[in-house]
Amino acid sequence: MKEIATGTSVLVVGLGYRSGLAACNFLAVKGCRVVVSDVKTREELADTIGRLDARVEVSAGNQEPSLLDGGVDLVVLSPGVPAAIPLVAEARRRGIPVIAEIELAFRFLRGRVVAITGTDGKSTTTSLVGHVLRSLGFRTLVGGNIGIPLVSLVDESSDDTVSVIELSSFQLETIERFRPDVAAILNIGTDHLDRYSSMDEYFGAKLRVAMNQSADDSFVYNMDDPVLSAGIGNIEARRLGFSMANKDADAFLEKDTVFIRDNGTVKGVLDPSRMRLIGVHNVQNAMAALLMVVSLLRKSGREPDYPLMAEACYSFEGLAHRMERVGLFGGRLFINDSKATTIGAVEMALKSLSGGVVLILGGRTKGDDYSRLLGPIAERVRFLVLIGESSREFARIFSEVPNESAADMDDALARAMRASVGGDTILLSPACASYDMYSNFEERGEAFRASFTRLSSGEISWT
Ligand code: ADP
Repeated sequence: MKEIATGTSVLVVGLGYRSGLAACNFLAVKGCRVVVSDVKTREELADTIGRLDARVEVSAGNQEPSLLDGGVDLVVLSPGVPAAIPLVAEARRRGIPVIAEIELAFRFLRGRVVAITGTDGKSTTTSLVGHVLRSLGFRTLVGGNIGIPLVSLVDESSDDTVSVIELSSFQLETIERFRPDVAAILNIGTDHLDRYSSMDEYFGAKLRVAMNQSADDSFVYNMDDPVLSAGIGNIEARRLGFSMANKDADAFLEKDTVFIRDNGTVKGVLDPSRMRLIGVHNVQNAMAALLMVVSLLRKSGREPDYPLMAEACYSFEGLAHRMERVGLFGGRLFINDSKATTIGAVEMALKSLSGGVVLILGGRTKGDDYSRLLGPIAERVRFLVLIGESSREFARIFSEVPNESAADMDDALARAMRASVGGDTILLSPACASYDMYSNFEERGEAFRASFTRLSSGEISWT
């Protein structure tokens, strides 16, 4: 593909409200001729259009292949737009390159790159790696799928920065030359089966994170994940595995200590009980983060400073909406895990807690087999409060666990209070997307917090 120079004619597909917008503005400033297409109407896009560079032409409510007729040199795809839509298929048929916003940014990004993907734990691990690198004195940028478009970081990057990038499988579908110095796949669970026709296809998209790596790059992976361990045969980068049990791994847990194998020595480096993050999944995330940081240090010719790295893991506060402690009321601990939109995340949440649990579950389903949660829920959950449009289906799937459906979040908390006793945990870990009731998982988590505040101030009566 030709370089992206002044005058290049670019069609951005999907304005969205973050990545598409950032890509348009970036390209306009670079002197490209930019048209952006979105299925939404001009009215629906009004807010975003207000933040768009005036040089960008908007084709609202139109994703017709005829948009390519005027001589388009390049198509840039927003992460929310499926690569299979007719417009993109037609671009490919005409030989027009189609790239992700991530790929666009990578062409201009300077410095080293760490890229993190997986089904669960991407945002947490991306932030943790960023936090550890900063504490080691690296000039660190954090972005990608975590909510900061990579193109918006390009101008801040320089030869001595490290960009830590969270990547979704959707973003990886349309990378081309993207080559991270350090890549990681945290786990391969089930997700987005509404968009992928098979697990192989989903896994294949994730594996693309390593496809351009070579022997002087590193690839960090979860050795306990059977799909992942079996499927990484063709990766050329130096492979570094982490495991909760396998002492041959490059990072492993033994006697409540995380050990790292590096340069022929094995050292105990981290006490997970000192981390603020809770749960076994966060031990895995920490092991992955440590291996990534060690790889990057080695590539930069530096020795790992393990005590400093461990301190950074201990001081990391975690992200909102992921096993976030909201507060105590009536002896019950309230935990907001609104970001748990997959089966794997809910399983991990349940494994991380002790004592009685009332689980608030449901929302917009994503084509997964939710009956896989029946075992873990029957084993750990005292009572289920069902929210959202999945309520009827979930009442059927989980009929052997006592359950009720709630009209809204206030009602869900009131029901959870009635069904629990002092010492229990009331956990929002929905296993579903939020779009049936809220604009996103953040809004759902904030609704949970707001209901908690009303409950504890006596505004919601539950007795
Ligand atoms: P992602 O960005 O991949 O969605 P997050 O870090 O935002 O991941 O966490 C999403 C959900 O997954 C939260 O409920 C969190 O508690 C859970 N989680 C975090 N790390 C893992 C992991 N390694 N395995 C399973 N679940 C995890």
